[in-house]
Amino acid sequence: MNSFTYTRTDAIDTAVRERASEQTAKFIAGGTNLIDLMKENVERPTRLIDITKLPLTTISDTVAGGLRLGALMTNADTAYNEQVIQRYPLLSQAILAGASPQLRNMATDGGNLLQRTRCYYFYDTATPCNKREPGSGCSAINGYNRIHAILGTHDRDHTGGMAEPSCIATHPSDMCVALAALEAEVRVKGSNGERTIPFADFHRLPGNTPQIDNTLQPDELITSIDLPARGFPEFHTYLKLRDRASYAFALVSVAVGLEMDQSDGRGNTITTARIALGGVAHKPWRKPEAETLLVGKPATKENFQAAAESLLAGAQGFGHNTFKIELAKRAIVRALGQAAKLEPTA
Ligand SMILES: Cc1cc2nc3c(=O)[nH]c(=O)nc-3n(C[C@H](O)[C@H](O)[C@H](O)COP(=O)(O)OP(=O)(O)OC[C@H]3O[C@@H](n4cnc5c(N)ncnc54)[C@H](O)[C@@H]3O)c2cc1C
Ligand code: SF4
Repeated sequence: MNSFTYTRTDAIDTAVRERASEQTAKFIAGGTNLIDLMKENVERPTRLIDITKLPLTTISDTVAGGLRLGALMTNADTAYNEQVIQRYPLLSQAILAGASPQLRNMATDGGNLLQRTRCYYFYDTATPCNKREPGSGCSAINGYNRIHAILGTHDRDHTGGMAEPSCIATHPSDMCVALAALEAEVRVKGSNGERTIPFADFHRLPGNTPQIDNTLQPDELITSIDLPARGFPEFHTYLKLRDRASYAFALVSVAVGLEMDQSDGRGNTITTARIALGGVAHKPWRKPEAETLLVGKPATKENFQAAAESLLAGAQGFGHNTFKIELAKRAIVRALGQAAKLEPTA
């Protein structure tokens, strides 16, 4: 273990100032990811700034009619909050699909957004990994890549052609897939003040800087996650497919929120659709064009299949993970059926 200093503060401004003054410092919240990474020698902070006493542990209404989740709410308290259960059951389901009860009691909402990939090579410091050590190579592309990405891995090079991927890691969070479908916003505070980041812009694709997972500046603290008024309380589902039923990260997961026209007496016409995928890309994956394909259409398997084909257009497997392309399509069709109440929920 490398040596580091430890400080704890109950003031947001102090935490931000301390972080800004030491480039290699890190905030620590529940510690469920950061401590593991320190033990594996992947993260080597020189100072830990404990933020667990900051006043960011409440859920409150926003002026826009939504809900503000303090960044230091635990995953468990968020998932079991009455307002979240009633207004954003998709989020509650997604959180409860992740980790174990003990972990959810420690893990915070802000930390969940910033947890790092579960790529095995990232944790194994004896292997090349562009995310851990930029320029060293990616062991997963020609290695064992069963859990890796099938979308968003290729970028354009300077000639406009397709460049080789630099990293095919996936973002491991369940909560973030629901937040993408809900179109949440992330509020942050840094030395340059406060700003709000739309969820779609928070995580990033690897491009040629795979070491950077998101658009947060190093000295910025997440203060809250804001949910908009629209929460899809009636028609929603979170479907997570994984190797075993007890706690495991998703091979593929799908968050769906629908609004259906009830005026025809059958409630079968989709008026709004949101679909986000987990386990398939460096960030929670959304494609608004695929969602638009469903608007004004009846909830049928054929229409769901068309949306699934559109979402997976351009997907590429790397051998061990190629099965995910078909798995994701089937998961999308099933999740849409569950959300529209055509199929029993699983
Ligand atoms: C065995 C195991 C299984 C798991 N399974 C799942 C799963 O199935 N699904 C899933 O989604 N997750 C899973 N997790 C991950 C878990 O949800 C995350 O580790 C947790 O949410 C991280 O939150 P934390 O508060 O512990 O973060 P920490 O470990 O404290 O911090 C993580 C990172 O976030 C930064 N940070 C924390 N809070 C803030 C903030 N407010 N502002 C700025 N930076 C901040 C830290 O500096 C650090 O870089 C699992 C974890 C383990 C150990
Ligand atoms: S996929 Fe990304 S995290 Fe995994 S070895 Fe390659 S560069 Fe590293």
